[in-house]
Formats: sequence, structure tokens, C-alpha cells
Amino acid sequence: MRHARDARRHIPRTDAVLADPRLAAAARRLGRGPVKAAVVAAQRRARAGEIPPGAVADEGAATLPPTASGLRPVINATGVLLHTNLGRAPLSAAARDAVAAASGVPAVELDLATGARARRGRTALDALAGRGPAAEAAHVVGNGAAALVLAATALAGTREIIVSRGELVEIGDGFRIPDLLAATGARLREVGTTNRTSPDDYAAAVGPDTGFILKIHPSNFRITGFTRSAGIADLAGLGVPVVADIGSGLLAPEPLLPDEPDAQTALAAGAGLVTASGDKLLGGPQCGIVLGRADLVRALARHPLARALRVGKMTLAALEATLRGPATPTAEALHADPSVLRARAEKLAAALAEHGVDASAVDSEAAVGGGGAPGVVLPSAAVSLPEPCAARLRRGDPAVMGRVENGRCLLDLRAVPPDDDAALARAVREAAR
Ligand SMILES: *Cc1c(COP(=O)(O)O)cnc(C)c1O
Repeated sequence: MRHARDARRHIPRTDAVLADPRLAAAARRLGRGPVKAAVVAAQRRARAGEIPPGAVADEGAATLPPTASGLRPVINATGVLLHTNLGRAPLSAAARDAVAAASGVPAVELDLATGARARRGRTALDALAGRGPAAEAAHVVGNGAAALVLAATALAGTREIIVSRGELVEIGDGFRIPDLLAATGARLREVGTTNRTSPDDYAAAVGPDTGFILKIHPSNFRITGFTRSAGIADLAGLGVPVVADIGSGLLAPEPLLPDEPDAQTALAAGAGLVTASGDKLLGGPQCGIVLGRADLVRALARHPLARALRVGKMTLAALEATLRGPATPTAEALHADPSVLRARAEKLAAALAEHGVDASAVDSEAAVGGGGAPGVVLPSAAVSLPEPCAARLRRGDPAVMGRVENGRCLLDLRAVPPDDDAALARAVREAAR
């Protein structure tokens, strides 16, 4: 008892602890509330005799999180370029700068020259339409699924959307495009079979109750064998709009991914609208992109639901910088030369071995991911480490996500920007200790 009372006398006062430079910095970063709570908890531990009274500030500082957001930064060494659990496409430095600038007070809906109200995000929309030469107009919503919902609501209402049975796709996490479309009140008119749908199947289904024909890119699976599907050009003359959900957001053909559809080709073939995600192969922020005929885009953009699906200023800024700026990290990862990746892996492994880490460079296989380009193998290189490193790397700062293969932890370098190699090496040394 006497011991405890003695200790209490020496517990430093809250204000005095909060003046510690580390805790003052934490208060600027995190707000005063959580820092004070951490100090009070540390004082309680000191009072209980669990820590020495002199350690209250240390304890308070040690228990605080590094940032005000719980989203921890990760180095993506999985070899999956667009990892859904890691936020899909990382933004370019240009796009991050644009986000930071837009996060304050940007003229997102104002013409500073005249002082008049202006079209929201007009420079981003111009950049988008400018990148799809066959597109008369563009619109942006929260994600690819929202673009589909808006197209269904604005163009079909309660009428029919004609879709092939071979294109009724589950996009991930249990979400299915047919359910999404049905939830809008539109009716799905399924045509053809799982493996074969002909232009005549669509033609026979078109009627006065048709809203539009929907072509969905089966982005995360492949049907092979006795198959047939109708192209956009086969359907463009049937007298109703063709909406092409291309998914990946490629604006132009990508020679490395010949089976991935792109907006330019779809529009040139006669699609009235193209919908896509912004954070897949386009390499930008999460958003849904709509490109196409001016009257159709306008019908979507002026629909009351458009207001519920609109994107924020930071998304518009990131999208524009992605479109106008330098190559995206996703494009660089996709086009990385395997021999350069191998050289990086060897350099990293040699440096780690010098520190006594059991590390070697190995060949690896990377993938596009994000539900895109199924079956496409991107030759890559990895640093191979003892398996227990995987969990320790995941819990480090920055966290590193590798993949475990044949009892080894592989850090695949294809999705790791070269600028992150030093941080990766530090994280491995830390984890291997
Ligand atoms: C990814 C994808 C979607 C969903 O887009 P989100 O941006 O994830 O909402 C829809 N259709 C296709 C073909 C896709 O590949």
C-alpha cells in the first residue's frame, strides 16, 4: 500500500507528459483526444505499479498509432498487379500530388476566370473524352458497378436489358452483375446459351420493350471449346443502343493483353456507351468511367440517380492526373522487363545475404489480377526467403505482402516500384532479425 502511495506521488501530471515533444507531435498528427487517452492509460499503469512513473511518456508514445487513419501502407510483393485486397491500382506520384492539391479548396465547380459556376470536374471529363477519340462525351461515377447501375436505370428503367447467358458474371465477393442490374428494376432478357450466343439470338429478342443490349466482358474467367459470341459490330445495327462493360478500363488496345477489350475499339465497333473501372488497368483512382454517344452520356449524367453516384474532388483530380500525367505504376509494372526484375532480385538477395539473411533470387510468375486478364502469366523475379518471414513482414512497417509458395516466402518484384527496393530491403532485415 505504502509503496503504491509513494508511486502515485511521482506520477507525472497529464499536462507535463503531453508537453513531451513526441506526444506533442502525435497530438498534431492524431488529435489531442487519443493522445490524452494514451497518457491517462499509461498513468494508470504507473499507478498500478506496472511501469515505472518515469516511463509514462514512453509508454504513451509507444501505444499510439502512426497515423490518424487505420489504413496501413503496404508494399505489394504478391506478384498480383491489381490486388483487390490492397486497393487495386496504386496512384502515380502525379496523381497523388493532384489528390493532395484537390483535398483543400479546389475550383471543382467554378470557373475562376468568370466567377460563374462551371461543369463539375470539367477538366477531368475533357481529359477522359480526349483519350477516347470515338467518344463524344464522358461521365464519372463511384465505380464500375455504379456505371452499370446508372446505365440500367437511365436507359432501361423497367424495360429489358438483353444479355448473353455466357456473360452473366460474378465480379467478386459474391456480387453478381445480373443481380446488380435486376436490383435497378430493369428486366434481364437472357439470350443464347452459356457457351454459344449468336447475333440472331439478340436480333430475335429486340423489341419495343428493349432498353439496350449489354455486352459484359467475362473478365475473370474463360470459356473455351465449342464457343461463339456476338461482337459489338454484329449488334450495333439492331436499332437499340449497345452498352459495353469492358471492366478493365483500357482506353486503347494493349499488345501485351490481346484479349482485354478497350474503349476505343468498342466505340469504333459501334458501342453507344462503354463502362469501365478507373482502378484496374487504367491505373487510376476507384471510379466508374462512362464514355460514348453524347445523348446517352447526357441521359446518364442528368438522371436524378447520378447525384447519388457522383465522385468527390479528389477522385476527379486523381483521374485527370492519371490520364494526362506520366505512365502509371500499373502500366510500368505491366511493361517491366523480366531481366531488369531479375537483376533487382539478385541485387536485393545479395545485399540481404550479406546481412546474414537466407535470401536468394528466383524466377517467378506474376498476374494482372483485379479480376482481369485471367490466364495471362507475366514472367517475373522474386526474392525467396524462409517461410516464417511472410507473417513478420506483414506485421512490419511498412507492411510487406509476399506470397508463400513451396515452403518459401516469395517477394515478387513486378508490382513493387523500383524506388521501394530500399524500403523492402530494410523491412526484410527487420523481419529476419
Ligand atoms: C471489375 C468489373 C466490374 C465492377 O467494377 P467495380 O469498379 O469493381 O465496381 C464490372 N464489370 C466488369 C466486366 C469488371 O471487370
